[in-house]
Amino acid sequence: MSTNDLLGSVSKLSDETEFYTPVPKGYEVGRCKYVVICGTVMSGLGKGIFSSSLAKLLQDKGLKVAPIKLEGYLNIDSGTLNPFRHGEVFVLDDGMECDMDLGTYERMLDQDLARANFATSGQIYTSVLQKERHGDYLGRDVQMIPHVTGEVKMRLRELAMRSNADVVFVEVGGTIGDVENAYYVEALRELAYEEGPNSVCFVALTYVLEPPTLGEQKSKAAQLGIKRLMEWGVQPHIVACRAENPVIEKVRQKIAQYTNVPLARVFSMHDCPSIYMVPRMLREAGLDFEVIRLLQLDQRVDLMHERMAWLNWCDFVERLKNIQHQVNIGITGKYTSLRDSYASIIHALEHSGAHLDAHVNIRWIDTSQVTGDNVAEKLDGLHGIIVPGGFGTRGAEGKIECIHYAREHKLPYLGICFGFQMAVIEFARNVCGLEGADSTEIQARCKHPVIDILPEQEGIKGLGGNMRLGGKDVAIAPGTLAWRLFGEKERVRMRFRHRLEVRPDYIDTLTEHGMVFSGKAPGEPIMQIMELPDHPYFVGTQAHPCMTSRPLRPQQMFVGLVAAAKRCAYPQENFPAPAEVVEQLMRQWTIAAQEKAHGRRSRQKT
Ligand code: GLN
Repeated sequence: MSTNDLLGSVSKLSDETEFYTPVPKGYEVGRCKYVVICGTVMSGLGKGIFSSSLAKLLQDKGLKVAPIKLEGYLNIDSGTLNPFRHGEVFVLDDGMECDMDLGTYERMLDQDLARANFATSGQIYTSVLQKERHGDYLGRDVQMIPHVTGEVKMRLRELAMRSNADVVFVEVGGTIGDVENAYYVEALRELAYEEGPNSVCFVALTYVLEPPTLGEQKSKAAQLGIKRLMEWGVQPHIVACRAENPVIEKVRQKIAQYTNVPLARVFSMHDCPSIYMVPRMLREAGLDFEVIRLLQLDQRVDLMHERMAWLNWCDFVERLKNIQHQVNIGITGKYTSLRDSYASIIHALEHSGAHLDAHVNIRWIDTSQVTGDNVAEKLDGLHGIIVPGGFGTRGAEGKIECIHYAREHKLPYLGICFGFQMAVIEFARNVCGLEGADSTEIQARCKHPVIDILPEQEGIKGLGGNMRLGGKDVAIAPGTLAWRLFGEKERVRMRFRHRLEVRPDYIDTLTEHGMVFSGKAPGEPIMQIMELPDHPYFVGTQAHPCMTSRPLRPQQMFVGLVAAAKRCAYPQENFPAPAEVVEQLMRQWTIAAQEKAHGRRSRQKT
């Protein structure tokens, strides 16, 4: 039976067959290929970094790629997860609150993703149970196999169809051996069987230990981890070995022998200074062409496209490697012990730093320890401050102290979401003289609730998926700093995740005292960007600009902050002002875009 016949017959639910594979209408078997990435030995290996780097290499070759992350947990989305345990909650343009790995994909692929790119067991089971209540299973007992696994395959094929991808990259969350992820592996095994040979490429990402007491690399844990995958009927095609140092040939040979994977497809993926160096490491090892051969994608590859994309990418990586200047930026926050909680901010600073020749040293400031008396000492040596997003009361007064100091001492400041709200409170208290100004999130019965719940949020009970979420348009006021930062555009799109806002009755008072609201929600009195003239750089936004920063297109508010910090760190050098730096950068982007379009046109002619 050919694969198409197989799918044709199994997609029908009947008593006559044990096959059950719902397939989206019009799905063409074999058109879309799949790369599946599973982790063994331990979590935290950087499956998302590996997968997005490999996807990038294929995308550079003109292939259309679509990533999906399969999470084992039962939450419907990541919105209710504690960033301290799970890393930051990343928000997609369509409002989906998801795992931080989706941020890695968006940055590496320079591509906006949507809810179809993120699945959790909670979503999969909900869908199965809804179908059961609807009577869709026609009297059958609903089982993990084939119904739940069928739902997973359906999701993947729907994504393939909807995105018209050449390759779907499937990242299986957790580690092989986890109970909650086992059915994903089973679904992918079935997928490979149904799609036929050369359609699904399995990659086992593993870890090679190098205990300091032994001083040599050990492969046993990697072997056992991969064996576990094989017990589940999955033979990996590629093994990528994470390790501290390059994995030596002997160790690779051992892994090859124990796992039936040819040595040429056992790769070392050792630590490197920046994740943006991983694509080059994989490319130099030939991983991209191994995948292309395995999936028989040779005919779809466009090497001219790759030449241009790769040059631009290498230019960025070279800039990153050759940074000469240093700036110190303080980030306040209560999850300071875990860098993952602020992943997007760290990346946005790295993107801006690469383009501005400034290495950003981050200093974490625990604001629960900051008071008016010690703030100068705590912020000593910094060239800029970020107060990032946050919830609740802890450390809020310390943040306000930091903002007060930054405003009065002309220290560059960027407030993100909560940091925007705190800047408004500080200004209301210390400039407008509104004593007792606060946010109702912090002081429910404060005298001046300058930050208050959004009207649409009032009465909402429960915490899941109900904030003001996702990409929204922001109307920019002409002539302001924001207007210059955004290339004199009157509309920009930013990502949001909040419940509170600047209370509209206070807008006039704040404005009369000199606060400029340079970005607003079109047609609604929701303030989205603020700035203070007569300050080197004092900007805040209700949005999360870090989430739309990309390596080759750093987000402009971050570029502005780093540019201002650089001026502050090197006062004698006469570096250009933030708006000028951004304008210069945007001119380069326009030229690059024109060259890209020109390249595309000349290829079409030939
Ligand atoms: N707690 C604030 C609000 O809900 C800020 C949210 C945030 O920083 N993401 O509006």
